[in-house]
Amino acid sequence: MKITDIRIHRASRDLSPAFLANWDPQPRRSVEMALVCVETSDGVVGYGSGDSMVGFEPYAELFLGQPLMAVDNHVRILETLTFHAGRYWPVEAAIWDAIGKTLNVPVASLLGGAAESLPAYASTGARMDPHARAEMCQGLRDEGFTAVKLRVPQEDLAEGIATVHAVRDAVGAEMQIMVDLNQSWRMAGDLRTRLDATAVRRFLDACHEAQIFWLEEPLPLTDRVGLNSLRGTGTRVAGGEMVRTFEELLWLVDDDVLDIYQPDVVLSAGMLRMRALSDILRSRGRRFTPHTWSNGIGLLANLHTAAGVGAGPYFEFPYDPPGWSLDRRDFGLSEPIRTDGAGMVHLPEATGLGIDLDFEVFPQERNRT
Ligand SMILES: [Mg+2]
Repeated sequence: MKITDIRIHRASRDLSPAFLANWDPQPRRSVEMALVCVETSDGVVGYGSGDSMVGFEPYAELFLGQPLMAVDNHVRILETLTFHAGRYWPVEAAIWDAIGKTLNVPVASLLGGAAESLPAYASTGARMDPHARAEMCQGLRDEGFTAVKLRVPQEDLAEGIATVHAVRDAVGAEMQIMVDLNQSWRMAGDLRTRLDATAVRRFLDACHEAQIFWLEEPLPLTDRVGLNSLRGTGTRVAGGEMVRTFEELLWLVDDDVLDIYQPDVVLSAGMLRMRALSDILRSRGRRFTPHTWSNGIGLLANLHTAAGVGAGPYFEFPYDPPGWSLDRRDFGLSEPIRTDGAGMVHLPEATGLGIDLDFEVFPQERNRT
């Protein structure tokens, strides 16, 4: 069975009102999505999405005519492209989707089959008044979530400290609270002054009573001394969501920079490599749990990888209505992915990645499978 076609369809959805992401100085007035379709000689079509896929077209020929199952080669080719062009990992996701559909199994079972569901953490994205956020988190707890991630504006740590304590007071001791400072990569053109290790350490000290489960991206990953100064303070350090290569991840592991490693499988270093990374981390008492903030298909690719390799202890579930509602996040799917009443996110029933495409958004694919 060979790869016979790779095509990309683009879709956009207006966001009105705009989504005010904490990591983006510009309001988001639309969300864009690139759907990668990998078709095989048997007529199976696999889907992937996440990266913008800008500039991929000239490289499609590297995959055409190649055996679908030759994942090792496909991944190594994609790794060569991260130097020349972009992060085309949705191609790998689409290949796995096609393989799963061909073999009639969920992709998670091909990557280890460690779990069929994972505890989700509601990953908020917007800055919000501390009391409004605390009330919102009570609602999340009532929905069944056992963990929530908060964003702290880097220019107003006092507001962030107030938010962390207000949320802790509101949700009680049982719910886990993660905090993301979004300081390891930047939106294009964002030249705001970064926090330094001293400011971050003071923030952590001020939040001590609230028992933060992990602090995410407190500093750039190049600030190894600063990151190391935050280790062993009673709060885990998480990061690595946009690291560009598997080798960079291994350097971070060698220097033991993080407790929790979060490469996104459709934006960072792919799915296959996370099988290896997860094994290495487990043997060293560290954990892998991926960033998932792209779209519903990207979420599914990360979910299958995470479930397959036994990632954890919590899985990122972007959810911050009304700015980032399930409808907005999962546009392109016929139904949004949901958690159950116990805050668990389950693998879909279907084979492959379990993507149920919305053909109103992608009419080009309506009669292809
Ligand atoms: Mg993050």
